Formats: sequence, structure tokens, C-alpha cells
Amino acid sequence: MAFITLSRENFYHNLNQIALKTGSLDKIAIVLKDNAYGHGLSLMAKMAHDFGIRHAVVRNHLEATEIDSLFETVLVLGGEALLSDTCSYAINALEQIAGMPEGCRVELKVDTGMHRNGIAADEVDEALAMIRKHALKLMGLMTHFRSADLLSSELFWQQKQFEVVRKKIETAGFSNLRIHSCNSAAILRSKRFDEDLVRVGIAAYGYNELASPFEDVVLKPVLALHARKVSSRKLKQGERAGYGGTFTAPKAMRISTYDLGYGDGWCRGDSDHPYITPEGLPILGRVSMDFIALESDKEAVCMMNDAQDAAKHFNTISYEMTTALSPTIERSII
Ligand SMILES: *Cc1c(COP(=O)(O)O)cnc(C)c1O
Repeated sequence: MAFITLSRENFYHNLNQIALKTGSLDKIAIVLKDNAYGHGLSLMAKMAHDFGIRHAVVRNHLEATEIDSLFETVLVLGGEALLSDTCSYAINALEQIAGMPEGCRVELKVDTGMHRNGIAADEVDEALAMIRKHALKLMGLMTHFRSADLLSSELFWQQKQFEVVRKKIETAGFSNLRIHSCNSAAILRSKRFDEDLVRVGIAAYGYNELASPFEDVVLKPVLALHARKVSSRKLKQGERAGYGGTFTAPKAMRISTYDLGYGDGWCRGDSDHPYITPEGLPILGRVSMDFIALESDKEAVCMMNDAQDAAKHFNTISYEMTTALSPTIERSII
């Protein structure tokens, strides 16, 4: 089967770069949602823990239970809220509050302009009253930025909104809350940091998706994807390979089939504009569910060692390239 290698050295390099921005490793919450952006939840959690990261963020309780023994706190962004000494649950909507168990640790997400999830600024008083009524433990106050990666002032506008809500909540008598708003793009472009935590995902995995004038932090991709050879064959000039026969051998050649396909989360793409591997091998013809063809005889080939480069080819972003990778692909740390 195809396999993934994870570079411990590159991961720690990236975490160090982020710590230079936050001032300390203690202020990093590593975002491990969606199988750690497809990297592999438990391996990435273990590496982060070994490096001294104390906080994590996941998508739901199922992910939390796999890793919560490794961290002091785990923020769960969605799904059912449960009682836990480690996990806290984001409040995404007012209606959610009444359904949370008494004593549940929660973090109030404020909608400061993204309009995806969270409590509107003018609903905050009501939310606080409900949190008190249902005896929930308010641990933190958070927001999420919609365009921290764009060259615009929108980030500052949202930050201003957040500041207003933060003051309001302090005035309402909730103190010692952990305050966090930054994702990767926001922390990479910020010159000063005075919050308690960053929720950093993509940057930790090695990608800087900021517009180029911001690109001063060098990050290194953690993940590399490889495929193994299944079989080889000779093609005569003019013979065609794969579904639809879209690849025609321009000369007599030897091609091999490798065990990666769209069933593994690899993009099928367009065989008229083939993806080219980091070693310069174009995929020959159509991508099948479990197989691709390359003009190579090697036992294993590297298919991707920089998801941002691959994403450009498929007209998407690094996040989608790695997150799509099937959890059943074998993963190991190097
Ligand atoms: C996914 C997510 C993040 C991390 O975003 P990156 O751009 O990968 O750093 C932070 N906060 C929330 C609420 C998220 O959903």
C-alpha cells in the first residue's frame, strides 16, 4: 500500500518558529482536527506531546478520546459535549447551551465577522446568563478570523470587535478566561502577541498560506506521500494505457503501476494535464481508484513532499491535499 512518512525534525522546526511568535511553547494549542489534517492523529499528538506542547484542538469527542491523555487541555470544536477534566467544548450557537451537561467545561466562541459559528456580539449577555443558569464552567473566550491570510485590514476589524466583547465579558465578572483568536495566518503575520493561546494548524504541518509579502517565516512540510510498485510492463510505441486509453506510448517504454489512487484520497485530476511527481515523473493516463502508472522501475516513488506545490497543480490548497488522505494509509515517523 501507499505510505506516508512524517518528519519529526520538520514538525519541531515549525513549532519552534511559532513559539518565536507566541513567546513560548506553552501558548501553542496544536490543531489536530480531521486526523491531524490527514497526517495521522495519534502520531502527531504523540510528537507534539514529546516536544512539550500542552494544549490541543480537535473536531469532536471521538478524536478527543484518542489523545486527551497526552494534553492538559483539549478544545473540542463541535459535536456532543460531555463532562471531562481535560476537554472543553466550543459554544457555536445559543441553542447549544441548554443541551450541555451541568459542570461541562466550555469556551465561548464569539462571531466577530466570519459569520460561520459563534455567538453574535449582541447575544453575549444572553449567552452568559444561560451559561450561569446551566452551571457550565466557562474556561475561555475565542473567535475565528475569516481572512487573516489576505492582504487587507479585515483582520484588524475583527480584532477590534473581539476586544469589545472581551471587555464586556470581563465587566460581567468572568475572569481568568483563556483568550484565543489566532489561527496560523494570524500568528504568522502578527508582530506582537498578548493572548493566552494560538490555535495553530497548517503552519505546524509546514505550510504558510499567506500572501507573499508576509512570507518571512520559513516552514518545512512534515508529510511526504509515497507509492509502492505493484507491477511493470513493456509498452510498444502507440499502445495506450489505463481507463479510456488516454495515455499513448510515444516510444517503446517500460511503465509500472503504483498503488495510489483516488480511493486513497489522491486527486484524480485531469489526465490531459498530468500531475508531475517531485522526481519529475508525470502520471501516465487516468488515475484509477487504487492505481496510477509512471515510467519508473523503482520499488517506491515519492508522490508528494510539499502539499502546497501539489495543491497548485490541482487548483486547491495544502489543507485539502493532506486532509483528503485516507486514514488507512500506513504512516510512520522518520
Ligand atoms: C481549523 C481551525 C484553526 C486552525 O487553522 P489553521 O489555518 O490551520 O491554523 C483554528 N481555529 C479554528 C476555530 C479552526 O476551525
